[in-house]
Amino acid sequence: MTKLMTPYINRRHLLVAMGAGAFAAGLETFNPVTAFAKAPKLGVFVPGWYRFNIGDIEATIISDGLLDLGSATDQFPAAPADEITQIMKNEFLPVQPMMLEQNCLVINTGDRLVLFDSGMGADQLFGTQAGRILKNLAAAGINPADIDDIVLTHAHCDHCWGMVADDNSLNFPNAQVHISQADFDFWTDEAKLQADGFVPKFVAGARKNLLPYRDRMHFVKDGKEVLAGVTALHTPGHTVGHTSYVISSGNSTFLNVGDVVHHYALLFQNPQWEFAFDSDPKVAAQTRLKLFDMASTDQMPMIGYHFPFPGLGHIRREGTAFDYVAIPMQHS
Ligand SMILES: [Zn+2]
Repeated sequence: MTKLMTPYINRRHLLVAMGAGAFAAGLETFNPVTAFAKAPKLGVFVPGWYRFNIGDIEATIISDGLLDLGSATDQFPAAPADEITQIMKNEFLPVQPMMLEQNCLVINTGDRLVLFDSGMGADQLFGTQAGRILKNLAAAGINPADIDDIVLTHAHCDHCWGMVADDNSLNFPNAQVHISQADFDFWTDEAKLQADGFVPKFVAGARKNLLPYRDRMHFVKDGKEVLAGVTALHTPGHTVGHTSYVISSGNSTFLNVGDVVHHYALLFQNPQWEFAFDSDPKVAAQTRLKLFDMASTDQMPMIGYHFPFPGLGHIRREGTAFDYVAIPMQHS
């Protein structure tokens, strides 16, 4: 009998499904019926995009695929490893690999077509499952040449390396670019090509992807409107000039948080935990707490770049911590 058990159907499931009395008899008489169609597996790329409305704005989440961040315990080096392991276990997730999504937001205001962050490009620094933005834009019916503006939360690889192709042509040839000056200056600084750790590679990539757009670049300012309906919110720590964006139309508002929070399970429960790629982890934690406080108090829905696709949810206060509540997908 045991040879019929698979990792997916165990004895307990069968007992519940069949009733204990029927269990033994059911297994002995099991006789699979031959399938008539027996279609082969498809094994092809599945598009990742999701459309919804923010008031009169038509919004689309375009997936750039997944990033493999290795072990969660390495990414939160100051946090207790056993707590990380327990939380991941409770969420039915492996500690390794810790996978993060990349949810790029596109909004059509009726006047402009705007892309927030551009994904990882062809670089495989974080695995082979990223770099899908162009395919998914096509699947969603969006032509990259129609993008009027790229609004960046910051200049890390998974946010700006999708702007320039390997042959150095612009992936978004008609786009103007909006970013904080602090982030632009920091991540395109030639002197940092000699720095330690991951910084030189990040700087080289930012220079490759941002400098070709330099003559149509605009610097966003905290609290000021970037475009009609899009307001910049300075949220430093992850990078010096990291910026979140409040997107409003009519009575609807979404907060595009960017990388204020990376993991939906670990950092809502422990907003004070420091992430390995934070430029200033202490400031990042303060910013995270401030933003969580604001979004939960105002019940403002958020768009999380690294949350499970499509990354739309609310934040709920749970004592001294917080909880993430995904917004169900809509089909109209
Ligand atoms: Zn990121």
